Amino acid sequence: MPESASGNQVHDVCRVETTVVSCGGTTQGEIGGGHPVVYLTMGEEGHITCLYCSRKFVLVERS
Ligand SMILES: [Zn+2]
Repeated sequence: MPESASGNQVHDVCRVETTVVSCGGTTQGEIGGGHPVVYLTMGEEGHITCLYCSRKFVLVERS
């Protein structure tokens, strides 16, 4: 059985198509556990992690 984190946030990986993403700490429709919306701008590495909730955003190429 995997040990769950004590917090209520999982380290999701969100695939996005833009280098600027907004994060409010929750997925759509999720209640609670959020944080003020922040905008994250990726560099050339093509990924960024939210400092608030550790959610990772990965840039994917538009198909
Ligand atoms: Zn966040």
